[in-house]
Amino acid sequence: MHHFPDAKAVVGALSPDEPVILDRPHAASRAARFFVEKFPGKSLYAVKANPSPDLLRVLWEAGVTHYDVASIAEVRLVRSILPEATLCFMHPVKTPRAIAEAYHEHGVKVFSLDCQEELEKVVTATRDDDGNDAADLALLVRLRVSSEHAELSLASKFGVDLADATGLLQSTRQVADTFGICFHVGSQAMTPFAYVQAMERVRAAIVAASVTVDVIDVGGGFPSVYPGMEPPPLEDYFGAIHNANESLPISYSSELWCEPGRALSAEYNSLIVRVERRRGTELFINDGAYGALFDAAHVGWRFPVRKVTAEGMADSASPLAEFAFYGPTCDDADYMAGPFLLPEDIGAGDFIEIGMIGAYGATMKTGFNGFGGATVVTAEDEPMASLYRGDRDIVRRDNVVSLR
Ligand SMILES: *Cc1c(COP(=O)(O)O)cnc(C)c1O
Repeated sequence: MHHFPDAKAVVGALSPDEPVILDRPHAASRAARFFVEKFPGKSLYAVKANPSPDLLRVLWEAGVTHYDVASIAEVRLVRSILPEATLCFMHPVKTPRAIAEAYHEHGVKVFSLDCQEELEKVVTATRDDDGNDAADLALLVRLRVSSEHAELSLASKFGVDLADATGLLQSTRQVADTFGICFHVGSQAMTPFAYVQAMERVRAAIVAASVTVDVIDVGGGFPSVYPGMEPPPLEDYFGAIHNANESLPISYSSELWCEPGRALSAEYNSLIVRVERRRGTELFINDGAYGALFDAAHVGWRFPVRKVTAEGMADSASPLAEFAFYGPTCDDADYMAGPFLLPEDIGAGDFIEIGMIGAYGATMKTGFNGFGGATVVTAEDEPMASLYRGDRDIVRRDNVVSLR
């Protein structure tokens, strides 16, 4: 793979017709080391955020040993790349064949569930040829919690309601060797309080069922940094989670897990696109809603952008103005409202770097309308923003955090 110092060098060398995805392994490695060293428990990488084999190897080398997978294809992928990784099958609705293959062929012992039917499915699919129940299952019941503090809700689809949890917790405890409770506060949770609130619900569930709990898994939701979304430092999340966990009615030896997807992968990729046409304040670019910019189109996510001039060329001195993007396909929905701030003289033929697309960006690319292609290169410069560089200037006021 080609290595370049930065996007300027890529544009200078390639003047690329297709979008270019820039990998920054050093940024992903720094994020992983941060979680491995500072999260007060075990960090499972949520593979769906970005299943790039290169990224998986970077995370493994930085010390991430556990992987949250959600489909049999993700199980096979991670197993083929990281034969020694611990895989945790955390989708609460799985097929019996997927469970059986994961358990019997890939050594997966950790499963999540949120209803009695799924519990029965897991128990049946993991029996041996003589019909004996598996004695080594780690089963985590997914509790429904609020997504009110997150930018993207994960509250409607999965999770058993607190009011219905008691029976499921007790019957799961009976068949599990290791028994846990998991939840997901929603993606891009903007305050540590989201986790504290969720753990209050976990407490209520444990007390009502009076079960012994071996694992508390606080899920994903750890934020990254985007225009208009400046979260508090991750240390604040880790501290709040640690304190809440300490006060739960669980044994001293119980484990604390988390499942970061976005926070480990967002800084790994940026994207270079070219402006093919300008119409007023709308820029027609060569990637979009069916490519790496799915979230920009479908949930109005604002990624950081900058104009890229080739190496040796002067940067634009023109003031910034607000633009919207159209992607390359023939679909009206291939539209990203932004607003994206770029030099007001930008036009056809100019290149733009779009940052922070490592999470739920690069992985969303489709071939719709023939526009799926991209060149992938490695870049050595800093990502356009970082939660891990330690240079954000943050003001804390009670629960409110802002940037100076
Ligand atoms: C998507 C997902 C994650 C990762 O969420 P992020 O918000 O990217 O951290 C973790 N766990 C489960 C079960 C998920 O579905």
